[in-house]
Amino acid sequence: MSAIIELEHISKHYSPTIIGVDDVTLAVEDGEFVTLLGPSGCGKSTLLRMIGGFEEPTHGTIRLADKDVTFEPPYRREVNMVFQDYALFPHMTVGENVGYGLKVQGLGRAEIETRVHEALKLVGLFDKLKLRPQQLSGGQRQRIALARAIVRRPKVLLLDEPLSALDAKLREQMQIELKHLHEKVGITFIMVTHDQTEALVMSDRVVVMEKGRIAQEGRPQDLYDHPASPYVANFIGTTNFLPGQIARVEGTTAEIALGGGRLSALLDAPMAAGTRVTVGCRPEKLRLMAEGESAANVLEGRIAEVIYYGLGLRIAVELSDGARVHVDSLLPDRLARSAVPPVGLPVRVAVEPHNVFVFAGDVAP
Ligand code: ADP
Ligand code: MG
Repeated sequence: MSAIIELEHISKHYSPTIIGVDDVTLAVEDGEFVTLLGPSGCGKSTLLRMIGGFEEPTHGTIRLADKDVTFEPPYRREVNMVFQDYALFPHMTVGENVGYGLKVQGLGRAEIETRVHEALKLVGLFDKLKLRPQQLSGGQRQRIALARAIVRRPKVLLLDEPLSALDAKLREQMQIELKHLHEKVGITFIMVTHDQTEALVMSDRVVVMEKGRIAQEGRPQDLYDHPASPYVANFIGTTNFLPGQIARVEGTTAEIALGGGRLSALLDAPMAAGTRVTVGCRPEKLRLMAEGESAANVLEGRIAEVIYYGLGLRIAVELSDGARVHVDSLLPDRLARSAVPPVGLPVRVAVEPHNVFVFAGDVAP
């Protein structure tokens, strides 16, 4: 594999105080599906627009297929952008909408027809060829917008929150469809989203952004299992954070003193005894222990609250120092009333050392 896009030290300063993107270096492989993920205002759209040529960087270089395109206009780049609001022409048929860009390029009728049909078949809407956009549902309009983008056969497709206008059910369905479309066409996709599930479900690689910078990038599972900071641990999935101090280190295992007890953790990087840390545990990696059961890595507390959410229970446990952790537990087939622990019950919570994240400093987000 080779890099199709190389961003080198890219920054965008809108003004001396408004920094949209701050020194981003990133290579995207040919055919990859990369997602830029982060909260509103962290610079995702600005970065995407610079790749598309709709915005000029104030610093840095952008290469597309080994060619410096930093200051090339959009039409001189083999890149196409799908906008959030689809921007379909209401007075044109679906087929005319999809073929419009090719017509502007001056392609012949037969060639346009072949490519329009091919693109509509790819998104599963060939039978809508003669309809107008307003006769289609939101999800279908989005697929037309996609067909219009891929019909020009760009090397890279840029998608800025492409599913955000759709309702939850349809969005889930389109996530899978868009992923399949990516596999079929073999074009590089770079997508922007603030929805972590969307990023995890769809991407080969996720780039988590924080205040214009890359906080961490990697395969979805690596980010989930090895977040580099509390920011990432909190943005991808849910994490309980507890302040603590490293009491002892033996090889890659650390024993951490917390207000409510002690936990062993597997360290990703070396840390010295005495270091103040923030410990992170995901609710689904914590387990309420049965009475009389013994385990090595345990926190003690009392049930403070039980929330039923269909798939399971989220149980808030108050530790002896007053801090709370959430424990998720999936329910067995049928919810036995006895399976729901009463508020106030003393409980022990177990966690495996490799499921305990340790971050240096008092840095809970
Ligand atoms: P995101 O897409 O992650 O929500 P944006 O890239 O839109 O973030 O914005 C990043 C930062 O740059 C924000 O602080 C935003 O207010 C600012 N910004 C974006 N576009 C402009 C613009 N055209 N002029 C001035 N500031 C902008
Ligand atoms: Mg945006």
